[in-house]
Order: sequence, then structure tokens, then C-alpha cells
Amino acid sequence: MPDEVKSGTARLAYPPSGQALGGLAPSEARFWTGDYYNEGNGQEEIFDKAKEECGVFGVFGHPDAANLSYYGLHALQHRGEESCGICSSEDGTFHYHRGMGLVKEVFDRERLGALKGDRAIGHVRYSTSGSSKLANAQPLVFKYRDGDLAVCTNGNLVNEPVIRRELEEQGSIFQTSSDTEVIAHLIARSPKDLVEAVKDAFARLIGGYAFLIMTKDRLIAACDPNGFRPLVMGRLGDAYIFASETCAFETIGAEYVRDVQPGEILILDKNGLREERFAPMERRAVCAMEYIYFARPDSDINQINLHSSRKRMGRQLALESFVDADIVTGVPDSSISAAIGYAEQTGIPYELGLIKNKYTGRTFIQPSQELREKGVKMKLSAVRKVVEGKRVVMIDDSIVRGTTSLRIVNMLREAGATEVHVRISSPPFMNPCYYGIDTPNPKDLIANTKTVEEIRKAINADSLYFLSKNGLMEAVGGHENEKNRGLCLSCFDHDYPTKVQFELAKATSCSCD
Ligand code: SF4
Repeated sequence: MPDEVKSGTARLAYPPSGQALGGLAPSEARFWTGDYYNEGNGQEEIFDKAKEECGVFGVFGHPDAANLSYYGLHALQHRGEESCGICSSEDGTFHYHRGMGLVKEVFDRERLGALKGDRAIGHVRYSTSGSSKLANAQPLVFKYRDGDLAVCTNGNLVNEPVIRRELEEQGSIFQTSSDTEVIAHLIARSPKDLVEAVKDAFARLIGGYAFLIMTKDRLIAACDPNGFRPLVMGRLGDAYIFASETCAFETIGAEYVRDVQPGEILILDKNGLREERFAPMERRAVCAMEYIYFARPDSDINQINLHSSRKRMGRQLALESFVDADIVTGVPDSSISAAIGYAEQTGIPYELGLIKNKYTGRTFIQPSQELREKGVKMKLSAVRKVVEGKRVVMIDDSIVRGTTSLRIVNMLREAGATEVHVRISSPPFMNPCYYGIDTPNPKDLIANTKTVEEIRKAINADSLYFLSKNGLMEAVGGHENEKNRGLCLSCFDHDYPTKVQFELAKATSCSCD
């Protein structure tokens, strides 16, 4: 497995050309993983989900910074499974390690032990590309005029191609395809001090992003002016902690302080915390898919608990689309909360009609149709004794391509369900995301090309209903006076909160790529 350990003056390292991944030649290194949320590498889809891109974690002022980062990243593993990394700072000297794979695979006692220092930033990454690239694993570490700079991010810059071209015309040479490197160049070229240079760089960016930046004496956290991607701040004793989700705080025993606000930049140094802005808050537009599917149910975003909001989505779905049935079941794990809500609202019993096998682990497969079918069955089973002879309401959080929905409906029918009514706890997913979520080409989004009735037929359901946009906003229950109650709903309504030059923007990539 290619990986790297570096200390001191930092430069990006690359796996030697042609180096094998996990013992396989690069062309053979196709895998899907054992986690429900982020399946596969985008080429051989088994589960039909839009994909989260990344998770970030940071510590400032704790002697066990790297160990805390390890546990924090482990809690954020669902946000990206392809690669991960931690960079620590020991009296201004950076130590970092990055590798391909899960946090528990990439780090061991020895590697963590080498990451000394009282501050650290870490990252888990989901790949949007067909191949696994260590070069794109984060944190990325650069040298600039005042020393070393480590950067990790979650999200996507809509105008990255424009800025990259401009910088190249001015002589910049890029070593990666990463948006993050573009930020580093913007910072490095500025004659101003670091904080002002970072502010100037962020002011040029359009997109959805949460950043952590570490220098020899500072840690900086920032969110885009619309707040697409979540980022929270907490305390552990005297230390400050940052994470993509609050579930990471629970893991390390940190106390939640607050969400980083859109357009805000938080600076930590020897003088403590400075709370500043690099841009006024624009229309707040937190990614609705974080609430629907991506974030862990035990996390809170803007103090709204994900499990509770998903339950409300299920209740709302029941109000909008009651159907007489014998049992309600949810596609595990992310749809269980909504299924419980649907069952509570209708009085139809919630049952475990579908079971996820948690122990499939990382499995190498060939992308043949037969093995894809087996792959689904390895991961998900219908419980025959529960569904046999029953009219089943099957709750799922989204339909992207429609391929998995068909397999699961058929799985329930094969197990003896007499009717399968599908209820989706989000509106039809019709448009690509430009803010850091990996979505297929629009022509592959089933709701973009088919009516609801055509989708129903395509997935072999007896009935099909998608939660309304208003129902979704009501269920999440965000800011009443804000447009869309503070949510981004662009993948449902094509109303993008930022300027998007569609011909230039990368709809299926993210800053992590
Ligand atoms: S377009 Fe959809 S997936 Fe992308 S940020 Fe908006 S709600 Fe989230």
C-alpha cells in the first residue's frame, strides 16, 4: 500500500510511477467498501447514492493532537473512505502521514506516535475519480515564504478552473489537480500577512467549502459565505477542536461550542481565538443532502439533530402519501430514521424487513453484472419471515440512478412481499451538485429523464412517492425567515445559490480531488 511519512520541510510525495495499490496493478485496484454511505470508487456503483466528498478534523492546543485526530477522523469515516491523513505541528515542525484506505488501516501506533505536537489537522477523502490517487490525499502540505502550510478541505470550488488558468498564465506550476493547491497558490502569492492573504484568497472563491489551514503558529478554520458544508467548533479542556460533524466531538469527549458561520474565518494562535469574517453571509444554503442522508444520525447541524429531522421527514412523507400496508421498513442504515417516523405517523408497525451485513469489509470485485447483484446481496438481505405475505412500505432517502431501488424492491418481492410501496424522504434528485457532492452525469439521474410514474415502473414498485420540497424544508425546520429555510435544494430545483458557469464548473468533482 503506498503511503508516506514526512517530517520537517514538506513537499508532496507521490507513489512511484506504476506502483501497485494493495498488491494489485492500478488498473485492477477497483474496490467497494464495507460502509453503507460511500460505496465504491464511482466507476462500479453498487449502491445508488450521491457521494459525500470529505471530512475534516482539527485540534489546537492539546498534547495528544494526533491521537485525537485519529479518533475524530474515525468518527467521520462515513464522509470518505478512500484515503486519509493527519499533519501535526511540533514547535513549528510539521509531521504528516497520508495513505490509501480507512483510518484504521492507514494509521497504527507507530505512525501516530511519529505525529508529535499539540496541534493537528486531518482529513478523510472520498474519491470521485476512477483511480485511487495518493497525491490527492490530504492534508496537502506546501512550503511558502513563511514556512510550511497544511491545508485540508471539504467541498468544491465552482470557479477553480478560471482561477487555475489565471494563475498558470502568471507562471504558477501545479503539481496536483486539487482545488486545494489553487488556494495554496493564492495564499503564497499574496504579499500580505497570512490571515489577510487567506481572507483575500477566500474572497476570490465561489463554491461550497469548509477549510482547515495550519501554519507553524496558527490554525485557521473557515466556511464559504453560503455555509454549504458543515463545520463545527468545540472545546476539550483548553484545546479547540474543529470537525465536519459533531459526532466526532462525542467520540473524543469534546464539548460543542458552535457551528462555524457562513463567511466566517476563525484564527487560533498563541493569543487565543479571533473570530472574523472574510465575506458577509450570503443566502444561507446548507446542503439539504447532509440532513437527508450524508451526515451521521447522531450529529447535529446548526443544532438540528439529524436523526430527529429524518424522523420528521418520514412523518411528513406519511402525511403526504399514506398507503395502507402491513409493515414499514427502511433501507439501512440511512433511511431507518425516516422509516421510524413514517411508522409513528401512520401507526403501521416498523419492522426490520431489510438487514445490512456490517461485516462485508473491503472487497475486490470485477464490475460484471452478476457480481454486482451478488455485491448487493452480500450487503443487504430481506428478512423473509418478516416480509413474507406482507404489504411493505419501503422507505429510502433518495433515488439517484434507480438501479439499487429496483434490486431492493425485487429482493423484497423474492422474499415474499405481496406489495412494495416505495416512499422517498427527499424530492426527486434531478440536477448535478457543484458544491462538493459527487453526482452522476445528469443524463444518468433517473428523475431527470423520467416521470415519477416511469420511475415507479422502472423500479418495479406498486406505488412511489417523493417527499415535497416544502415538506422537506418543514421537516428540517431551519431558519424560518430565510430562503428555503436556509437550505440548498439545487439538486431538486436547479436554483443554485451561487453563480455557476455551467460550461466550466466541475459538477462531479470536489476540492478534495
Ligand atoms: S446541490 Fe444538492 S447535494 Fe449539492 S449542496 Fe445543494 S443540496 Fe447539497
